Amino acid sequence: MVRDHGFHPVRVTRIVRETTDARTYVLDAPFGYRAGQFLTLRACGTLRSYSMSSSPDTDGELMTTVKRVPGGLVSNWLHDHLAPGDLIEVTRPAGVFCLRETTAPLVAFCGGSGITPVMSLAKSALATTDRRVRILAADRDAGSVIFADALAELARRHPSRFEIRHHLDADDGFVTPGAVREFAGDDTDADFYICGPEPYMELVERALLAHGAAPERILVERFTPAEEPPAAPEAPAESELEGTVTIVFAGKKHTVPQHSGETFLMSARRAGLSPPYSCEAGNCATCIAQVTEGRAEMRVNNALEEDEVAEGWVLTCQGEPASPRVTVVYED
Ligand SMILES: Cc1cc2nc3c(=O)[nH]c(=O)nc-3n(C[C@H](O)[C@H](O)[C@H](O)COP(=O)(O)OP(=O)(O)OC[C@H]3O[C@@H](n4cnc5c(N)ncnc54)[C@H](O)[C@@H]3O)c2cc1C
Repeated sequence: MVRDHGFHPVRVTRIVRETTDARTYVLDAPFGYRAGQFLTLRACGTLRSYSMSSSPDTDGELMTTVKRVPGGLVSNWLHDHLAPGDLIEVTRPAGVFCLRETTAPLVAFCGGSGITPVMSLAKSALATTDRRVRILAADRDAGSVIFADALAELARRHPSRFEIRHHLDADDGFVTPGAVREFAGDDTDADFYICGPEPYMELVERALLAHGAAPERILVERFTPAEEPPAAPEAPAESELEGTVTIVFAGKKHTVPQHSGETFLMSARRAGLSPPYSCEAGNCATCIAQVTEGRAEMRVNNALEEDEVAEGWVLTCQGEPASPRVTVVYED
């Protein structure tokens, strides 16, 4: 498979106001995608990823839903400047927060804009399988609930297979471990999907594990890094290892000595290059490149599928050399 991770101009056909601070952008993007995946867009000279809220199985159009982040660069620009008819540059969809081949129930815990990929997953699971789908959606207050009507409509159409429970902080405070356990109930064999603010995701994951959920049945999608990305080492002489990293960027080769604890992205920066990146946490795949010589290992991979890794694709923000000579090639 030739992976296309370049940027493509696509037209915004419609913009739907979901809440005061959430908008759905309907894109004329001729891409195939899997429920739960995201695309990365280029705006304000930088890159941000946004999940599809549409389902490839039930929606004829590709949609992504963006919530304003106070003080945030791109989310505010999209809300304030992007208009129907405008072109915007996006990558093809990527990501592994997807449906698995199973008949087990799908139980999702989302917070705020975390409903976006979960909406896509729920619509696809209901349309293409007989699985039960249950969502606990946590929001600040009733006015912040994204897709309230669409979720209620799913519940009307699938009364025996779909449950949506809204948790409002304004009424009940933050979600507690007890509330997570109570919602999971007897569905300990479910596939669990978690997407929301980091502290919420941690609380839910811990509560599910304590409730008996198997770690491999818990899928998380991180919109923000779990922790600060590790700083680039100062590169003292003693950290130099035997071996080299060769980076092919914009068609030119740059070779630097390997430094311990250094990712390919760090090596590229040390070589004076400015390759693409966004989350620096292994979530968004913006920094992807292909290993064409030697071997690499990734610290975290929340974006690439197994076959892509087998073909040598690597998240350069997470990939490190695992052999003395490694060459990584960024797509032009
Ligand atoms: C795989 C993936 C899928 C995503 N899908 C969606 C989606 O469907 N809808 C959506 O609205 N967002 C989504 N995001 C988040 C999105 O990419 C941006 O991080 C978000 O819009 C903020 O970008 P910004 O440029 O406005 O803010 P920035 O200028 O990057 O950040 C401003 C400040 O807000 C903090 N911050 C950054 N992101 C968030 C956040 N999400 N919540 C709270 N604080 C934050 C930063 O730490 C910083 O202090 C996704 C992220 C990833 C990695």
